[in-house]
Amino acid sequence: MNCYVLTLFPDMITGGLNTSITGRAIEEGLIRLDAVNIRDYTLNKHGKTDDYPYGGGAGMVMQAQPVYDAYRSVRSRIDYDPRVIYLTPQGRVFNQTMARELALEKGIVFLCGHYEGVDERVLDEIVTDHVSIGDFVLTGGELPAMCMIDAISRMIPGVLHNNESAEDDSLSDGLLEFPQYSRPEVWNGRQVPKILLSGDHAKVDAWRREQSLIRTALRRPDLLEHAVISPREREFIRKYLADSGEV
Ligand code: SAM
Repeated sequence: MNCYVLTLFPDMITGGLNTSITGRAIEEGLIRLDAVNIRDYTLNKHGKTDDYPYGGGAGMVMQAQPVYDAYRSVRSRIDYDPRVIYLTPQGRVFNQTMARELALEKGIVFLCGHYEGVDERVLDEIVTDHVSIGDFVLTGGELPAMCMIDAISRMIPGVLHNNESAEDDSLSDGLLEFPQYSRPEVWNGRQVPKILLSGDHAKVDAWRREQSLIRTALRRPDLLEHAVISPREREFIRKYLADSGEV
């Protein structure tokens, strides 16, 4: 998977993603990361990439020309039309399903805005998807692009090694993950749930599934609507909530 990030702050992208598991995936050639500095493409002799908004108002707007030429430089190096994702609080909110879908792409261009955003004309010209990482406003699209690349890369075969499997992760089956514990057995007077020490894998799996159901019902009940849950499990949740006084 080729990730091309159009940005005014390429060091932020390479510094963040060349670390830990994504860094290893880049080293192993499973992801190719190209942070393209939009400033390298401006025709302005002072290196400017932004200007005042027409119609007035606060802040600056990233100009169309450098963004477009940065995109064209990527497009001229590949033989297909990639998806071009503009990171914006006005976009569809990113989630695990989108991460899974995007992991199938050969290459993706991420366009990071800054200041008040980007001249709408270049967005109309090149962008295929408007994506947000949540209902809050950040100063730039770099952190959102990094979040997306991190989540997408975990869905690419080989990026996670066996001991880092994504199968049990929260949201992989529409539920939150069960609680995790490691050594020692007792910490600060708190005992690891006995069942995890029993060596009985079937019982451990059943307990973990119940914990996932309970946790999701308590913390993210909205997820239950679309999660794959049997009628027996729905009844288990209903009873748990009724018995614990949560409903
Ligand atoms: N004026 C813009 C608006 O109201 O939609 C917000 C601009 S924001 C200060 C600057 C840049 O940060 C945006 O162009 C976008 O690339 C990025 N950004 C901010 N919040 C974001 C979010 N929740 N998701 C994705 N990108 C975001």
